[in-house]
Amino acid sequence: MLQVSTPYLPNKKKLLKYIDQIYKSKWLTNGPLAEELEFKLAEHLGVKNLVLVTNGTVALNLAYKLLELKGRVLTTPFSYVASTSSLCWDGIEPIFVDINSKSLNLDIDLMKNVKLDENISGILPVHVFGNPCDVDSIQAFATNNNLKVVYDASHAFDVKVHGESILAQGDISTLSFHATKFFHTIEGGALIIKDDNIYEHAKKIKNFGINGLSIDCVGTNAKMHEISAAMGLCVLDEVENILERRKIVFENYWTRLNSVLQLPEYDFKSDLNYSYFPVIFESESKLVEVTRYLLENNISARRYFYPSLNTLNYVKYAECPVAESVSKRVLALPLHPDMDKNISDKVITLILEKL
Ligand SMILES: *Cc1c(COP(=O)(O)O)cnc(C)c1O
Repeated sequence: MLQVSTPYLPNKKKLLKYIDQIYKSKWLTNGPLAEELEFKLAEHLGVKNLVLVTNGTVALNLAYKLLELKGRVLTTPFSYVASTSSLCWDGIEPIFVDINSKSLNLDIDLMKNVKLDENISGILPVHVFGNPCDVDSIQAFATNNNLKVVYDASHAFDVKVHGESILAQGDISTLSFHATKFFHTIEGGALIIKDDNIYEHAKKIKNFGINGLSIDCVGTNAKMHEISAAMGLCVLDEVENILERRKIVFENYWTRLNSVLQLPEYDFKSDLNYSYFPVIFESESKLVEVTRYLLENNISARRYFYPSLNTLNYVKYAECPVAESVSKRVLALPLHPDMDKNISDKVITLILEKL
């Protein structure tokens, strides 16, 4: 079976060397490998104030805490469920703003029309499929209205705009290092924090509020352990290779499907990471038909994202016609670094047979 995504497994010998080191030191957590990974990631991404945590959802929850978000937050209904559920988990009400039908990111013009009040404390946009949001417009709107911005940048590892990491945007950007993401640590995540004081605070609250010998504030436990950090160090050494191999498959899909299927409009002026290849069918029934046909041929594709998050049973519904329509018709095709170009050819041929 060809999976829509499989975890990237780095050089095993290298990983075993780190495991040996962990066995010798008996240092399983609070250790030097997490520290090393934190340093190397910040360097690789070209950002400051990076804090490693246990996963991408915890990264979001820490971000809300650090920025004291409360009340209501403007967000997109077209994302992985964690962006919305993390808000609800913290007692913050998501206010859904529909997406732009081309970029599939939060629609800035619609956002500007939202009637703001003192209960709205922030914005949570998502760089969906690694396609950068219009960060300048979002920042201008946020600054004018005194709102905090948290970017869920789970899809945007290594994405750059004008040569600069997109992760430096917003008050905080968060990453997920889940096994199936572009860069992974098995489970893991990170925050990239603009303000130096908030960064110092983040380092404390992810470790029980501990600061050296004193306990300064209420904290939680969000530390990444050493085996995850070891995996991350190994994967990080191979990200150029991961990018290249993804790009070959992405470009093949793009070239052969662009004229026959609706695709998101990518910002090709930016440096993208080619993490996902979503296609949008003319109808849900066509999507179901193609998905079934692929499955009969041992190819698994994923309805990603489905359903539109404004329709979840635990949120207040707001009409988002674009997101609701797209989420019924969008399918993520298999794309991972272990895939050869000829496998993508097979996927393409099967899809074309059913169109
Ligand atoms: C993967 C993902 C998350 C959650 O990250 P975890 O590390 O699995 O907790 C959140 N938001 C988006 C957009 C994601 O793709």
